[in-house]
Amino acid sequence: MTDIDAIAGAIDEVRSGFAHGVVRAVSDRETQLRQLRRMLVEQESVFASALRSDLGKSALEAYSTEIGYTIGEIDHTLRHIRAWTQPQRVKLPLHLRPGSARILQEPLGTVLVIAPWNYPLQLLIAPLVPALTAGNTAVLKPSEVSSATAAAIAEQIPRYLDERAVRVVTGGVPETTELLSHAWDHIFYTGNGTVGRIVMRAAADHLTPVTLELGGKSPVIVTDSADVEVSARRVAWGKFVNAGQTCVAPDYVLVQDHLHDRFVDAVRSSLRRFYGADPAASADYGRIINERHHARLTALLDAGGFDEVAVGGDHDVTSRYLAPTVLTGVDPAAAVMDEEIFGPILPVIAYRDLDEAIGFVNARPKPLALYVFADRATAVDRVLTHTSAGGVTVNHTLLHLAVNDLPFGGVGASGMGAYHGEAGFRVFSHAKPVLHRPTKPDPGLAYPPYSALKQKVLRKLL
Ligand code: NAD
Repeated sequence: MTDIDAIAGAIDEVRSGFAHGVVRAVSDRETQLRQLRRMLVEQESVFASALRSDLGKSALEAYSTEIGYTIGEIDHTLRHIRAWTQPQRVKLPLHLRPGSARILQEPLGTVLVIAPWNYPLQLLIAPLVPALTAGNTAVLKPSEVSSATAAAIAEQIPRYLDERAVRVVTGGVPETTELLSHAWDHIFYTGNGTVGRIVMRAAADHLTPVTLELGGKSPVIVTDSADVEVSARRVAWGKFVNAGQTCVAPDYVLVQDHLHDRFVDAVRSSLRRFYGADPAASADYGRIINERHHARLTALLDAGGFDEVAVGGDHDVTSRYLAPTVLTGVDPAAAVMDEEIFGPILPVIAYRDLDEAIGFVNARPKPLALYVFADRATAVDRVLTHTSAGGVTVNHTLLHLAVNDLPFGGVGASGMGAYHGEAGFRVFSHAKPVLHRPTKPDPGLAYPPYSALKQKVLRKLL
């Protein structure tokens, strides 16, 4: 854990790194990005075993959702960095000619990235990529909850990156509170909304802009034209990957009433195919991050408010295991429908017509993601037009976040700002407009003393 008294010094180092231009030249930014890539490739097994220890992540998920995913983001960035950083020419209106106008992409300065524990590598490094791409220096604050990954990151980053450009500060609330008391040029926070408010309040003291990547109850709507088996398999995958601890995981399912039983059966058989008869014995099924979250999730089951545990329900606190669980006959007022579940519990609720499903979604805070399963385009259009969500995947789950060129972020209660690909570069850049005029000619038209003739000419030009 970083000594609190050392935090101010670490910030000064990267501030001075920015002032000395350590990542000012695009070639220096590329060097840091390539080093970051090298770290992920060379230390894959170190990060994979940390992720297994924190979350029971399988090697495949560690690669696809964290290490490989982040390498892909770096590669995409390296392909586009020269284009993104180019000044853009802007056409001048007649009355402002002669001259030229451009938009320069200016780094913001020194930024703070705060990450949560559920994808502890991806959610710390993926924002660092655009921060460096835009020419900023940064302090990274991994989540203390995923302690093995935080330790691996704190050890590896200084071995690969310029310490004047990137520093890692480890620790929990006291260390983050200290970090937040300093002035930053941007704060990029991923985590829950309660801490999001703390971050935004602290940022307000320094007028620091923030990006807040939060969560929420992301709904799935399975409409009457959906392919039930495919929908069930894709929902089961998106829900139970990382044992449901995914910000864009389907939180609950609204299914057309006549498809309800078939859908639940199909989820049950998908889970059997994924994890066998006993998911506790499957190397591919993750674990709950800690006992506190395990207790929170089992309390949701104990609180009731549903007719049946249709699948799973068994748990064991010593191994932090909670079976993939499906609940049916769920009362909208049940505890499980209150907050984001953020674990492997899937409530399924039947609806009579699509308007009812849309109304159900709209009666709740705007979610981070929404999934609609439909073969009929009109149903998809209706859902897209009449609901709001951070992002949408149609006929699958989670995957919109894997498209580099789709901005990823929330709306309303699920967050503000978006990143990935070029959107991330824009977050960490100031688009600086520059108008350049030659000193000659310098007609007196716009200068006092004003006259009727000047006014007439100006009115014609403007
Ligand atoms: P967490 O407990 O690790 O907290 C996130 C960060 O905030 C950590 O670095 C932690 O040290 C810091 N923190 C915690 N309490 C603090 C305090 N009082 N003051 C200052 N800093 C503090 O993770 P979490 O919040 O439990 O993460 C889960 C949440 O994050 C879920 O709601 C999930 O949906 C959301 N999430 C969102 C995204 C996204 O991309 N939008 C991604 C992953 C998770």
